[in-house]
Amino acid sequence: MAAEGSINSFSGRRIWITGHRGMLGSAMVRSLERSDAELLLTTRAELDLTDAGAVRRWMQENRPELVFHIGAKVGGIHANATLPADFLYDNLMIQTNVIDGAHKTGVEKLVFVASNCTYPTNAEQPIREEALLTGPLDGNIRAYAVSKIAGIEMCRSYRTQHGSNFVAIVPPNLYGPGDNYHPQHSHVVAGMLRRAHEAKLAGSQEFIVWGDGLPRRELLHVDDLAAALKYVMLAPTKHELYNVGCGYDLQISELATLIAEVVGFKGEIVYDRSKPNGTMRKLLDSSKIRALGWLPQITERAGLATAYDDFRRRYTTEEPHEMHRFEAARAPHMIRSPGTTE
Ligand code: GDP
Repeated sequence: MAAEGSINSFSGRRIWITGHRGMLGSAMVRSLERSDAELLLTTRAELDLTDAGAVRRWMQENRPELVFHIGAKVGGIHANATLPADFLYDNLMIQTNVIDGAHKTGVEKLVFVASNCTYPTNAEQPIREEALLTGPLDGNIRAYAVSKIAGIEMCRSYRTQHGSNFVAIVPPNLYGPGDNYHPQHSHVVAGMLRRAHEAKLAGSQEFIVWGDGLPRRELLHVDDLAAALKYVMLAPTKHELYNVGCGYDLQISELATLIAEVVGFKGEIVYDRSKPNGTMRKLLDSSKIRALGWLPQITERAGLATAYDDFRRRYTTEEPHEMHRFEAARAPHMIRSPGTTE
């Protein structure tokens, strides 16, 4: 029987956030840095998460009590298509080391972030957690999806065999500060913000949107997801897997209209049907986390405004052809792994 005891607060707790330089990891740092938790943050140069021995040693020396396991190799459809072996190897190694290390070093609770591509493409909508492993996966991202499914299965197996309090969550499409605004490799919100902004700057009458505008996507602001991960960490979770969505989706055409408004683009929205639509719909059924009491707080309009602010700030300071690098600010209560100099 898995442990379900609740954690009372983050105060004074030693919390390891893996992947703290990414979009979600840095939102977790922002969200926890005002608590008086002791945040354990390691860069890749300091701790290679694919190295089992190094991870085990680091965990034995630093003894995290709570773990948000966010760090993973992620990428768009092109990267997934060309580097499937890397996605599979890195993610299997990283999560095996972190999750098994959490068991061996007595971590009290671990929350693992999976992905909405773990569900079968033909899953009934809205997609319930029970749809996992009931059908074929999207072939374009199968290796990545299989690695994340293995992580969910680890949480489940360690709960069953060892009573570990390990929980996986599946988010919908994320957006917000710290996103990847690469012109081709970004996700829909970041890609559209950039194209609407550049159309406005160029005085163009056309804002080009990929596909025919008919697919639907469920969106969640990264700060809402960070709050949800904290909520799941503190809640008495009795399942190994929770969907964490806002509960509804928008048609890409509706999203394009909203983005044009937020950016202040006044021209026409034009659909580029030579670009793929992808999956038509992947709405999550998030009733299990709703039953625990979590609700998202950020409306699309307010969330898109914060994303656009982040984009504009970085557009003026970063290499405009890239804009995919992101370094989170250092957290005040952070400690480093022994033997590092920063
Ligand atoms: P997905 O949920 O994994 O498919 O991820 P995305 O965030 O890339 O969303 C893709 C959907 O948004 C598809 O229906 C695309 O046709 C549509 N879309 C419209 N404009 C863009 C864009 O500029 N970038 C991306 N990535 N998708 C876009």
